Amino acid sequence: MSTMTITTLPKVPNFVGGKKVPSSSTRTLPVTAPATGQVIAELPLCGAAELDVAVAKAVEAQKSWGTKPVNERVQVLYRLKALIESQVEQLAKICSQENGKTTAEAKASIARAVECVEFASSLPQLIAGRVLEVSRGVECKMVRYPLGVVAGITPFNFPFMVPLWMIPMAIGCGNAFILKPSEQTPLSAIEIARLLEEAGLPESIFSVIHGDREIVEAICDHPGIQAIGFVGSSKVARLVYERSTAHGKRVRALGGAKNHLIVVPDADPEMTATNVVASVTGCAGQRCMAASALLAVGDVDHIIGKIKERMAQVVAGQEMGAVISEKARARIAGYVERAEAGGAKVTFDGRANVAAEAPKGGYYIGPSIIDHATPHHEAACDEIFGPTLTIIRCKTLDEALAIENANPYGNAAAIYTSSGRVAQHFAERASAGMVGVNIGVPVPREPFAFGGWNDSSFGGGDITGEGAIDFWTKAKKITTKWSDEHRGNWMS
Ligand code: NAD
Repeated sequence: MSTMTITTLPKVPNFVGGKKVPSSSTRTLPVTAPATGQVIAELPLCGAAELDVAVAKAVEAQKSWGTKPVNERVQVLYRLKALIESQVEQLAKICSQENGKTTAEAKASIARAVECVEFASSLPQLIAGRVLEVSRGVECKMVRYPLGVVAGITPFNFPFMVPLWMIPMAIGCGNAFILKPSEQTPLSAIEIARLLEEAGLPESIFSVIHGDREIVEAICDHPGIQAIGFVGSSKVARLVYERSTAHGKRVRALGGAKNHLIVVPDADPEMTATNVVASVTGCAGQRCMAASALLAVGDVDHIIGKIKERMAQVVAGQEMGAVISEKARARIAGYVERAEAGGAKVTFDGRANVAAEAPKGGYYIGPSIIDHATPHHEAACDEIFGPTLTIIRCKTLDEALAIENANPYGNAAAIYTSSGRVAQHFAERASAGMVGVNIGVPVPREPFAFGGWNDSSFGGGDITGEGAIDFWTKAKKITTKWSDEHRGNWMS
């Protein structure tokens, strides 16, 4: 007689009131490990009622958290940094399992999250207000207050790092924070909640509510939530921005990207090739900073040849991880498949460059090069979000700049050159919020804020970096006059 083992999938809990709580929702989604294609958990898709409970608790808890001196609040962040660093192996494993990125990439993203925690730990030095005698005997003082309860809505590609772009600054400034992580990668969010709890964050200052569109809309509409930091695709960023601002919320929504790299003939061939390939294939091309289109100015065939050589060495399932889903794999493959129909040439088809030892059910696709595309070709315009490089040939730097400027996105752009004059000409004219010279992933690190221009960003303010202090607080100006001798004149 044969026996069959039925294993029940772990259900991903919410984190509300300082503890993991099961959701009451009957709507669920499977959580899949992209590296194997196996379902690893079941995710509840919560509704507005569960959000109401979390917001009510957060509103209460924030009253005392928001009035603590900032140097007391940041003690939690010091402890958080130490906890993350001591558990990096375990955290990287979870991040890599739910996202499909390699362990090395997961660790790099955790190191970047730690930088954000470190920066917010210096809030006592950064957040001080200002005082000025604005008129004889009259003093004006500017003081910052937390907003109250704020929310973060995050994408699948950096499940640990992107939430921590926002959380340390937002809670360090005295807010309570509600996180709605991607429904595709919900596990790291629960680890963040656990770490904050272990670091001594008071109950209900941080909550996690899972779900999809329904819960996002409930967050946008909720009168108890004052501000939203969103990171994801431009389509959803625009929706979240429009819906939340209609309710008077403060919103900065970071969207998608189509990042252009310009290569001119005087670029260093080895460095450029290594750098371009790293930008295209890092995190399997699923980075909002990933190189996607290469504008080849003049005769740079010697550099493109080296890019091709390097690209051929990148094997999915070895140094490159899996993409997030079978749907994503098919979408990326579709761009390569259709390239020639639109008049381009697939000069390197690495779709099948998958390691023999990679698990068969995993969502792997090797990197490819689509060359001689026109600026209007779909692969030259769309955010493919996979390891694919589209090359557009240009006669001059200004022609390349015109193509970069015409793309509706504006996240990142970079140039490879050995000429400072050419680099400066480019940096002044690129229509992107984050620009690189000889750097394929020009992420501005703390204290600089992360964020693009044009259709890569909706709303004002910064949700990271020094500018985030403005975003996560409201300023009050207090004007006082105490001296008798100036009592006569209302202005003096
Ligand atoms: P996504 O827009 O599909 O999802 C982001 C969040 O929005 C998730 O939490 C998701 O649940 C929610 N969502 C999805 N569809 C929704 C809808 N119709 N209504 C309301 N909410 C909805 O993005 P993704 O696929 O998870 O992530 C990839 C995208 O994120 C890429 O476009 C990438 O460029 C972008 N991204 C941007 C940045 C940046 O800083 N600009 C950083 C990382 C990722």
